[in-house]
Amino acid sequence: MIQLYIPLNFLGVLYREIKQSLTDLDKMFALMEREREVADKPGAQALPPGAADWSVRFEHVSFHYDPARPILRDVSFEIPAGRTVAVVGPSGAGKSTLARLLYRFYDVQQGRIAIAGHDLRDVTQASVRQAIGIVPQDTVLFNDTVEYNIAYGRPGASREEVEEAARAARIHDFIASTPRGYQTMVGERGLKLSGGEKQRVAIARTLLKDPPILIFDEATSALDSANERAIQAELKSAAQNKTTLVIAHRLSTVVDAHEILVMEAGRIVERGTHQELLAQGGRYADMWALQQSAEAETFTEVMGM
Ligand code: ATP
Repeated sequence: MIQLYIPLNFLGVLYREIKQSLTDLDKMFALMEREREVADKPGAQALPPGAADWSVRFEHVSFHYDPARPILRDVSFEIPAGRTVAVVGPSGAGKSTLARLLYRFYDVQQGRIAIAGHDLRDVTQASVRQAIGIVPQDTVLFNDTVEYNIAYGRPGASREEVEEAARAARIHDFIASTPRGYQTMVGERGLKLSGGEKQRVAIARTLLKDPPILIFDEATSALDSANERAIQAELKSAAQNKTTLVIAHRLSTVVDAHEILVMEAGRIVERGTHQELLAQGGRYADMWALQQSAEAETFTEVMGM
């Protein structure tokens, strides 16, 4: 029996290993599939790394994944260098598509997107991706150590630099509390991190990369309010002096943005600061009132009132 058990047990381990590698490969191919959507123009130049003005401009951008279904319609906005623009709106409005286009997963069909005054189609993809740090909704962690996962933001970073980024992203204390610290294995085969913890690892990774442009795609999953406030504080410090696009699912994240864009069915239907939009009494003001009353209701329930 034991003779049979050992090979079966081994096969089980092998099966899990292969399945895991296939999952990783799946992710890689899914990414490569997207990468293939665009190609560098012959003779494309790199974005000048020392550009003085890392502004982002969307000019009359229209876009569809499928010609039968327009997603963005005549979208124009600017994020001046060092400023933050936040996008809000119902699910499916096209918010994350803006982030995908800025990272140049796809090219626009009409209009143009420019970074530091350069049309994205005229510069190398590598230089665009070098200039941008993304904190995605759902961070994929590698099946490796916490240290590797953070240092991925800047290969060759020293342990001190990794720790410094982790402290700034407020994940250091959590890492230090685990028995193996920075050598703790994470990912599907290691320590499972909560959504908020994963997002903090992604923030640390991005802080280490220190790009001039930041895209923050807020997690849709509800975080508890303490976690949410912590992530907002980290985001605020990460976004300092960076040109930042925030795709927001909760209005509390956008209050401090220099400009808020309200999107609906691929169009910008309202724009302004939090105060201006409240004063307009339009969709944003309605969304805000709705969110406030939902929060008050939850508070009342939690407090048993
Ligand atoms: P959410 O708040 O739910 O994240 P969103 O406003 O960010 O939504 P997008 O992710 O930009 O919305 O999606 C806009 C529309 O484009 C959706 O209807 C979605 O189904 C569609 N879409 C997104 N990605 C693709 C794709 N790769 N191929 C085809 N359609 C897509």
